[in-house]
Amino acid sequence: MSEVNLQNNQTMSGTLTSSTLESIKSNYQRTLDRIFNAAQKAGRNPNQVRLVVVTKTHPVEVVEAAVLAGAAHIGESYADEAISKIAQLAGKSITWHMIGHVQSRKAAAVSTNFDYLHSLDSLKLAKRLNHFCKEAGRTLPFLFECNVSGETTKTGFSAWEERRWQALLPVFDEILTLEHLKCQGLMTIAPFFDKPEETRPYFRKLRALRDFLDKQFRSVCFDELSMGMSGDFEAAIQEGATWVRIGTAILGERLSRKG
Ligand SMILES: *Cc1c(COP(=O)(O)O)cnc(C)c1O
Repeated sequence: MSEVNLQNNQTMSGTLTSSTLESIKSNYQRTLDRIFNAAQKAGRNPNQVRLVVVTKTHPVEVVEAAVLAGAAHIGESYADEAISKIAQLAGKSITWHMIGHVQSRKAAAVSTNFDYLHSLDSLKLAKRLNHFCKEAGRTLPFLFECNVSGETTKTGFSAWEERRWQALLPVFDEILTLEHLKCQGLMTIAPFFDKPEETRPYFRKLRALRDFLDKQFRSVCFDELSMGMSGDFEAAIQEGATWVRIGTAILGERLSRKG
């Protein structure tokens, strides 16, 4: 994988050099090809897998470069950082995805600035988002973020033990009654492995959880599965991902702030 080094390629003015733009373009195209091939290999329609380009910690010029390369869906993890970029890029046709943990006090800002939330992880947050969406007269599409690995560093609803899935139902039921939030499906982050194949059981578990919820809530849409990142998206696509969230493979390593 050829990765761009944005630190070296960035000029003093904060604009990107043409070689950086070209790398982003070719990495973006190569990623689309890999998505297409993974879907075909799995016997799936490649159009059913959509790409969110994850631009967290990258400057706004990098988001613009991704958009120039063809990206329509941009993912961010930190509310304040994202909102500044969203303001600077107002008028561009970008669908903004919030993919990181949302603190309660950011609920108002998230509900008005983002188009799609991948990381709904509590009833409390859901209620706050619903309140602010109502005030803003809008509906926010969201995914339930589920922790299917049991790693304590991860947020999301506790879903690693199948025998506990039943216990999720009352909370999910309450969230699903909120009128200004619209469920689209589930999201997860697999544990990191050197061998991407090892992530498969986690993606499979998320899909099984989706099938379980689908039966419980017949009238609710659980079509979308947001799973797969730079290191493991091909495995995720094999297991049914409809959204993949990819940063590093397109934009290069992040320079600051872990995440
Ligand atoms: C950062 C991040 C990604 C992208 O990770 P890469 O490995 O850079 O592709 C995807 N999903 C979430 C939730 C993230 O925080």
